[in-house]
Amino acid sequence: MTKPYADREVWFFTGSQDLYGEDVLAQVAEQSQEVARALDASDDVPVTVVWKPVLKDSAAIRRAMLDANSDDKVLGVITWMHTFSPAKMWISGLDALRKPLLHLHTQANVELPWSEIDMDFMNLNQAAHGDREYAYIATRLGVARTTVVGHVSNPAVTRRVGTWVRGAAGWAATHELTLVRFGDNMRNVAVTEGDKTEAELRFGVSVNTWGVNELVAAVEAVDEATVDALVREYEERYDVAPELRQGGDRHESLRYAARQEAAMEAFLTERGAKAFTTNFEDLGALRQLPGLAVQRLMEKGYGFGAEGDWKTAVLVRAAKVMGAGLPGGASLMEDYTYDLTPGKEVILGAHMLEVCPTLTTSTPRIEIHPLGIGGKEDPVRMVFDTDPGEAVVVSLADMRDRFRLTANVVDVVAPAQELPKLPVARAVWQPRPDFATSAESWLTAGGAHHTVMSTAAGVEAFEVFANIARTELLVIDENTTRRGFADQVRWNQVYYKLAEGL
Ligand code: MN
Repeated sequence: MTKPYADREVWFFTGSQDLYGEDVLAQVAEQSQEVARALDASDDVPVTVVWKPVLKDSAAIRRAMLDANSDDKVLGVITWMHTFSPAKMWISGLDALRKPLLHLHTQANVELPWSEIDMDFMNLNQAAHGDREYAYIATRLGVARTTVVGHVSNPAVTRRVGTWVRGAAGWAATHELTLVRFGDNMRNVAVTEGDKTEAELRFGVSVNTWGVNELVAAVEAVDEATVDALVREYEERYDVAPELRQGGDRHESLRYAARQEAAMEAFLTERGAKAFTTNFEDLGALRQLPGLAVQRLMEKGYGFGAEGDWKTAVLVRAAKVMGAGLPGGASLMEDYTYDLTPGKEVILGAHMLEVCPTLTTSTPRIEIHPLGIGGKEDPVRMVFDTDPGEAVVVSLADMRDRFRLTANVVDVVAPAQELPKLPVARAVWQPRPDFATSAESWLTAGGAHHTVMSTAAGVEAFEVFANIARTELLVIDENTTRRGFADQVRWNQVYYKLAEGL
């Protein structure tokens, strides 16, 4: 199996010291290589794990961390104190580290050799206290990290290491992200606003706006051969309505959607951008609201937010990277309307058009229908239902002094009935722990109406991402209570003010 991040690395650092002598240090090196190899060989760990020589003093530790910082391939570092590694040696290195950190609290053996054990064995296998010494200094320095406990042969351990890798990959993705906004935000909307300068510091993303006229010009410049090739691809991969097919009455509308896709993709590629926004109030001379084009670009891995919502576009891109290689996908989603039948409450989520087909394993239908908003020609769109199963919806809001992520673990279900008059892609879900607790908590948190819905990367990957980015994450899941959640929101307000300092 090819690893989803095969071209990226995490570095495996083993801590020790000179006190033990050559023989013991040789064993430390050999056994730590076995641990690193086991991680690298695990299908749960989606990245190349690279063992590095055992670290025995402060200068070497600092150098190793600086090297990890400066190597763009490196998503993060794993540390393990096989023996005792006096932790003052780790101060300058941990202080210099700018990449995500995993503390793997493990040991070489699973069982104790009760009848054979002697002090030599004890001295070699002392992560139980070596890692405590190390964790003390990491905590004292306030180093954000994920701690994973257990033997590498335990799948629960490799799964958590894998989740950390995914969160670190999301963090790398937002730091490598250029985001193109076609036009500004929808007028008067509050939650789609935000501090783009702070976002560049916090998440690394560069967010800038281009006038929609530049996109209009790019759409007009697309050549017919490119349009022909895309139309053929649509007809092969999707269930295209007869009126839109070649020879159909409205084929020209499909060709225009293809033209939009080609122009947008070229525009983004030229600027090295992997995320973008549109705004139906700011389409200039575009003839259709880009629906199919946006869906296709999300399917190719681009982040997207509607109505100028760049923050959700960042989340969609991060979710796509964090979920790489997993079943499912990620999309812009919007809480739209409810079924409030007591005990059977569900949320119907959709958008005007722009929901990503990675949320379904069915073949989307490509259709054309009027859109009662925006005053443009009828837009072409993909129509499908999101696959039933577990998902998470996550929003990013600007709370003035910081960003807040709010997440809800949900169960996508099949629609109770057909939706013959709703020709848009959609999802129907039951939020955990129950509808009222979820919605009340979400409203208390001030979570947005736009979210990323992820059916690939789960809430744990977002937790890792938030931890690395030192950003608040409020989770609503099966363990949430109204009172506990409201308290958490209240306490977090104080915590994050103190944590930020002056
Ligand atoms: Mn919207």
